Amino acid sequence: LLSLEGATVRFGGRAVLDAVGLGVAEHEVVCVLGPSGSGKSTLLRAVAGLQPLDAGRVTLDGRDQSGVPAHQREVGLMFQDHQLFPQRDVAGNIAFGPRMRGASRAEQHGRVGELLEMVGLPGAGHRSVAALSGGEQQRVALARALAPRPRLLMLDEPLGQLDRSLRERLVVELRELFGRLGTTVLAVTHDQGEAFALADRVVVMRDGRIAQSGTPLEVWQRPVDAFVARFLGFDN
Ligand code: ATP
Ligand code: MG
Repeated sequence: LLSLEGATVRFGGRAVLDAVGLGVAEHEVVCVLGPSGSGKSTLLRAVAGLQPLDAGRVTLDGRDQSGVPAHQREVGLMFQDHQLFPQRDVAGNIAFGPRMRGASRAEQHGRVGELLEMVGLPGAGHRSVAALSGGEQQRVALARALAPRPRLLMLDEPLGQLDRSLRERLVVELRELFGRLGTTVLAVTHDQGEAFALADRVVVMRDGRIAQSGTPLEVWQRPVDAFVARFLGFDN
């Protein structure tokens, strides 16, 4: 479904993404792990069309995405810092994508109710997003990213600010949901346990490059180098 070839992004002469090659198959759930600053968010932004590449290319369904603006790419991105629409209520935020794709009012309403239920905020549709806690905003952002049912769903630290019990519950529910809907997912997380629970495949990044890619078991049992081993050992 998704393929990156030699994807490179430079900031001030430094390669933040350094010739990254990555493929994500249809229905696959891939989790990107790596230290802060290793280029994880930049990778997602490049796929979403929010960060131009200095070299290389991104293809979706074999179609080169260079020149395709972000809003025309069939990807959904949940940002690390939410970026909810402050002037809309919770339901307005979640219904935005479906509305843009021409869903009827009844469909939008049904979808909002179903998603709020799923993220543990039933009945919160009328609330102002500015009045929500950080964790509640995060859950609304997750619901908003899922709402239009994008071909490729990208999540940047989707559960970052939530408490452990909610994270654990949502990881299980997300895994079940992605399996049921056959959603293709590229997710970034700091949390190794979360990545291992959610992913079919784990990608470990270091300094803009992919240090290792493999099933959770492969990466866990056979880290390719000391960096990956140390990263897995110290994280968590
Ligand atoms: P974190 O886990 O902290 O979110 P990350 O792996 O997502 O980190 P990125 O946000 O992709 O890291 O950033 C990678 C590097 O690129 C960082 O060193 C960051 O400072 C730098 N960077 C990102 N965006 C820009 C920008 N617009 N201009 C200059 N440097 C940037
Ligand atoms: Mg980031």
